[in-house]
Amino acid sequence: MGRETDVLVVGGGPAGLAAAIAVRKKGLEVIVVDGAKPPIDKACGEGLMPDTVSALGELGIRIHADEGQRYRGLRFLDGTISAETSLLDAPGIGVRRTVLHQRMVERAEECGISLLWNTLVTGLTPNGAVVGGTELTAKWVIGADGIRSRVRRWRGLDPSSQGAVRFGHRRHYRVKPWTDYMEIYWGRGMQAYVTPIGNEETCVVLIADNPQTRFEEARREFPRLASSLEGGELNSAERGAVTEMRSLERVYRGNVALIGDASGSVDAITGEGLLLGFQQAMALAEALEAEDLEMYQKAHRRLAKRLKAMGRLLLWLGRSAAVRRRALKALANDPELFTRLLAVHAGESSPRQFATTSMRLGWQFLTA
Ligand SMILES: Cc1cc2nc3c(=O)[nH]c(=O)nc-3n(C[C@H](O)[C@H](O)[C@H](O)COP(=O)(O)OP(=O)(O)OC[C@H]3O[C@@H](n4cnc5c(N)ncnc54)[C@H](O)[C@@H]3O)c2cc1C
Repeated sequence: MGRETDVLVVGGGPAGLAAAIAVRKKGLEVIVVDGAKPPIDKACGEGLMPDTVSALGELGIRIHADEGQRYRGLRFLDGTISAETSLLDAPGIGVRRTVLHQRMVERAEECGISLLWNTLVTGLTPNGAVVGGTELTAKWVIGADGIRSRVRRWRGLDPSSQGAVRFGHRRHYRVKPWTDYMEIYWGRGMQAYVTPIGNEETCVVLIADNPQTRFEEARREFPRLASSLEGGELNSAERGAVTEMRSLERVYRGNVALIGDASGSVDAITGEGLLLGFQQAMALAEALEAEDLEMYQKAHRRLAKRLKAMGRLLLWLGRSAAVRRRALKALANDPELFTRLLAVHAGESSPRQFATTSMRLGWQFLTA
């Protein structure tokens, strides 16, 4: 007879590990299975916003000062326009994706979770899943197998709405960070995200509408960025990944629930995909403890709503150069307004503050 467990997590990326840790803390026995082996790398902007850092803290995961680089704000750049804001209460942390994954794996081990690496899940069964060719029996199965989730397809939970697919490429440059801000460069059909991740290391992610766009075009589009990176050697293999806005009508069926990118995603432009996965993990653990996945469905919808709205707004700004420049000028003229908008993005704003921020933005926009 094969193995048995309370919860089987398919996919040991950030969302799968977060779910495993949150569920284990509720006293359930958990097995995580992943086809790859840690530390697992993936194209990512590698910037953890303060709310992401605190969600990690709730799961008992800390990134030490020497493992990443603190950044104190966000800067948007478009041609000669530059608008910046400091982060609200605490700094963000730029950290290599592999370091984050390793810390999450260590925490999962510490919690007593069984981790099966280099092992594929090839199908679901009425009582669990086929793991490395053998049936593993589980009361609950969590599909955390990423944007192209097969668990989602196997369980008939495929997307009800999907936005345009965009294409991300990540590079690490051996170059001393020139700023303690996370920078976002806006150009025609593309954005470049720059995150300081160490004393001598900077992460650059290019996100483009066209799958053919590469760093060479980005250098021409963003001459200021190109000159800052001048002479910096590449410090890792370049990685690509797709990103998209995808919403599911349902995120569970029977005893199978989806989480992270498998359960619908926000475009990388929001910089908050990881946070969403961590928040979903805590909500899913509550629902499994209560044996009520409808509770998770409701929480999932609520958690995604704000980020999806911000994602749509940012994508629209990406496509409309004239509107975007006007908006950036408005933010450059009124840095406090940028700070308030960031609070809205981070969900730290009341409906009243949201309304006054919108009115102030409208006024600045008209007069910029
Ligand atoms: C270019 C880019 C930049 C981004 N930048 C940021 C950022 O700066 N900040 C941020 O918060 N978010 C960012 N994101 C989003 C973030 O990376 C994702 O939201 C996050 O990786 C989702 O984690 P996940 O665990 O759901 O999926 P994944 O990280 O994709 O993990 C899925 C795991 O499942 C495993 N798997 C798949 N199928 C199977 C199977 N059949 N059997 C066993 N294992 C399987 C895979 O090996 C993988 O390890 C970015 C995304 C992109 C594309």
